[in-house]
Amino acid sequence: MRDIAGPTERTELAGLTKPAGLTEPAGLAAVEHIVWDWNGTILDDNHAVVHAVNRVCAEFGRAPIDIESWRGIYRRPLRDCYGELLAREIAVEDWALIDKLYHDTYHGLLDTCRLSIGVPDELRRWQAGGRRQSLLSMWFHHKLVSLVEDYRLTDLFARIDGLRLELGGGSKAAHLAEHLAAQGLTGADVLVIGDVADDADAAAHVGAQCVLVTTGVMSRQALAGRGVPVVDSIAEALALLPA
Ligand SMILES: [Mg+2]
Repeated sequence: MRDIAGPTERTELAGLTKPAGLTEPAGLAAVEHIVWDWNGTILDDNHAVVHAVNRVCAEFGRAPIDIESWRGIYRRPLRDCYGELLAREIAVEDWALIDKLYHDTYHGLLDTCRLSIGVPDELRRWQAGGRRQSLLSMWFHHKLVSLVEDYRLTDLFARIDGLRLELGGGSKAAHLAEHLAAQGLTGADVLVIGDVADDADAAAHVGAQCVLVTTGVMSRQALAGRGVPVVDSIAEALALLPA
C-alpha cells in the first residue's frame, strides 16, 4: 500500500505547492555577482570571537559565555548588544574600551582561525563559471586585505572593502550601497551571503537578494526572522541559485 500511496500523496502535495506556470519552488533569481561577508561566513573564527567577548566579560565582571549564548545575544548595533551582555548602560568610554579589548584579543587569535568549509573551492567554482564576486566586511579594511592575501584569496574578488573607520559596530547598509556603487552595480545585480541579520537588512536596504548561513554568530532562530533563506553552509547557499 505504501508504494502506491506514497507517490500519489507527493504528487498532490507538489500540485499544491507549485501553482500553474511556476515550474520551480520560490527561490533565488539568477545573478552574476555575489557579495560575500567575511567573519563567520568565509572565515571560521567563532572561537576567537568567543574568547574576545569573554575578555570583555572579564573586564566588566561578567561570567564567561559560550558560542550558543553569544548567538542568542548578538545583534547590531553592537553597543546595544553589549549593553544586554553586561547588563549596564554602555557609555562612550566603555565602548572604546570594549572595542579595544575585543579586537586586541581577537587579533591575537587570528592565526588559529580557519577558512569555512567550502572555501575556497566553492568560490573558485563560481569564478570558473565566468561570474564575479566581491568581499564586504565590517572588520578593519587594512587587516582584512592583509588576511585575504595571506589566505591567497585576493584574486577571487573584484573588490574588497572593510571598515575604514577606527571604531566599528554599526550597520552594513550604507557600506553595501557604497560597495555596489563603486563597482557600477545595483542591488538587483547581486546576491549577498552573510551570517548575521544585519547582512539581510543591508541587502534589503539596496534591494538585493540574500542568503544567510548558520556558521557564524547568530542562531538559526534569529536568522529565520529576516524572510530570506537560511542554510548551514556555503555550498547550500550557492545551490539555491538557478543552475
Ligand atoms: Mg559576519
